[in-house]
Amino acid sequence: MGIEEIRETMDSCKHCYMCRHACPTFLATKLDSHTPRGYALLLSEIDHGSQSWTPTVIDRFYQCSLCGLCKEDCAYHWAEDEVVRNAREEIVNHHIAPTRVAAIAQRIITSGSPYENQRSTIEAASADIEKKDAKILYFAGCSTRQNHLEIISAVDKVLGSLKIDWTILKEEGCCGTPLWELGYVEEAKRVAKETAERISSLKPTILMSGCPHCIRAFSELYPSWGIAFPASVKIMHTSQYFDLMLSQGKLKLRKNTLSRAIYHDPCQLGRKLGEYDAPRRLIKFVTGENPVELFHSRQAAECCGAGSVMFLTDGKISKKVAASRMVSISESVSELLVTACQNCKRALGEVQSSKSSNTQVLDIVEIISRSI
Ligand code: SF4
Ligand code: SF4
Repeated sequence: MGIEEIRETMDSCKHCYMCRHACPTFLATKLDSHTPRGYALLLSEIDHGSQSWTPTVIDRFYQCSLCGLCKEDCAYHWAEDEVVRNAREEIVNHHIAPTRVAAIAQRIITSGSPYENQRSTIEAASADIEKKDAKILYFAGCSTRQNHLEIISAVDKVLGSLKIDWTILKEEGCCGTPLWELGYVEEAKRVAKETAERISSLKPTILMSGCPHCIRAFSELYPSWGIAFPASVKIMHTSQYFDLMLSQGKLKLRKNTLSRAIYHDPCQLGRKLGEYDAPRRLIKFVTGENPVELFHSRQAAECCGAGSVMFLTDGKISKKVAASRMVSISESVSELLVTACQNCKRALGEVQSSKSSNTQVLDIVEIISRSI
């Protein structure tokens, strides 16, 4: 990819203000350079030589969560988020990425995780490690194994109740998404290839993850990069697999065990992968009621602020975006907020705990495990 690939989008967006109201970063900072138009205009000026890559300009491009709400809001569905991602490719190709971004990329390349002192899936999963021909290979993803071992424990409990033969990798490594999103495309492809080879060698029937970024990488990015899993491997988000098990009568859950819940659609699972209903069906089963629909939900769901590892590249803006999403969520009175992405859980949970609110933020698998 390069500027040529997104020139049409850039040239359309630089003259247009229509999706500005939807952009979570702009709403958090009120800076015109944080609007989709602002990004397009900046990149166009750089392309024409009337603007240079100053540190401030470079920072701007790492302050978009790649949430895709601009594209959804746009009457023509121009992929403005791709303009931002391509700008990051330009930045990386010019070797001018901010030090903190380069450090994150380097950690992923050398240790398979953007986090320092990383933790492992093994800490919370009781499955056999790297077992061949298991029915399910569960890939937790870097953020879940780092920040949310309780989600892995919940997966462990639910798969245990299903008496399914499942396995995990000893060292998962990275799916490649954070590198790709930060503009390190060649590096992303390299780590993706290694990860895919380790997964494929175990020949699972189902490759399951609760991380929508990993699922998108496995199902969309890898094929576009020429990386293929064996045709027999089915890729499923945890919500999709457990919804299927419930519909087939294999997953036995107690009904109406939890109070009515609000559901927050993760950008990657919803807008990018089109999965809106599997989590809602599971919530309806265990609470007895359809989840509370937020004013901005499904395709129009607002970002939690954690997309594109923004909590690592710009924690301040990330928190502001999360706080703004929580304002909308707080308008709906409920003690339970459910989502289906560990990064949404982290971002929204942090805002909740800072407000000492009673609302619990849980992952979709946690509400299932509590209903067994
Ligand atoms: S994505 Fe669409 S609405 Fe937004 S700036 Fe571009 S053309 Fe305008
Ligand atoms: S992807 Fe999201 S944060 Fe980035 S410009 Fe579009 S609406 Fe704003």
